[in-house]
Amino acid sequence: MLVVKVGGGEGNAIDPVLDDVADLWHAGRRWVLVHGGSARTNEVATALGHPPEFVTSVSGYTSRRTDRQTAIIFTMVYAGEVNKLVVEGLQARGVNAVGLSGVDGRLLEGPRKRAIRVVRNGRRLVLRDDYTGTVEHVNVGLLRLLLEAGYAPVLCPPAISTEHEIINVDGDRAAAAVAAALGADTLVLLTGAPGLLRRTDDPNSLVPRLGRADIEAAIEHYARGRMRLKLLAAREALDGGVRHVIIAASAAERPVQAALRGDGTTITR
Ligand code: ADP
Repeated sequence: MLVVKVGGGEGNAIDPVLDDVADLWHAGRRWVLVHGGSARTNEVATALGHPPEFVTSVSGYTSRRTDRQTAIIFTMVYAGEVNKLVVEGLQARGVNAVGLSGVDGRLLEGPRKRAIRVVRNGRRLVLRDDYTGTVEHVNVGLLRLLLEAGYAPVLCPPAISTEHEIINVDGDRAAAAVAAALGADTLVLLTGAPGLLRRTDDPNSLVPRLGRADIEAAIEHYARGRMRLKLLAAREALDGGVRHVIIAASAAERPVQAALRGDGTTITR
């Protein structure tokens, strides 16, 4: 079993990913696809007069400030537009895909963080009324039901909180939870970057291999922004029993097969 996550940030490409996963599907390889939608969410939120705001937690992780209105816009874009376009693309390639958000069938469930501690202009403050959280439980029975019936699951945030609210969760970490719950061998995180870079502005500084023990130092010394969350997700996947996590570019030819052959950064225990 393979779990592929494709980012929704700038610099991502979806068509090469759909070509590739469709070919793998037709060759008999079973997978679950997880996608993001952050760039499109920013556009729609701005157009709707509720522009995005990003906050940095005390521990140094960036996330989208998600009030209830943001949670609704986020759901419109991820579970509506982006998810259905991915399903449309797979249907056009002969794959009977079913698109679900984490809310559907309680696919992705976890606690909501009501208050988040953030740093703004060097000052610490607590933001309340936030609708974010982490995935602690995956409805793996629902995924198996779909897979065994021949459907290709296409998943995305949001998730559902233990108290039944829509919550924004990180897509990479959600994909890690799905991979661990399914007992997947490999998790491929496709993104706008060619993999983990030693220097963000230098594509020749790619780190080809990383051990679990080196993740901490990478987070501390050279991964910034959303790359930190990808490394956190990688560690969670490995700790959940996934053997390989590969971070690689989505805008490449056959990006999944290229990653499986060693492109990008391969992280192992
Ligand atoms: P997604 O692809 O999931 O939508 P992003 O594209 O926002 O997520 O996350 C990856 C981004 O992380 C890259 O585009 C890059 O700008 C940034 N980044 C920060 N530090 C690094 C690093 N050391 N190596 C590679 N990318 C990095």
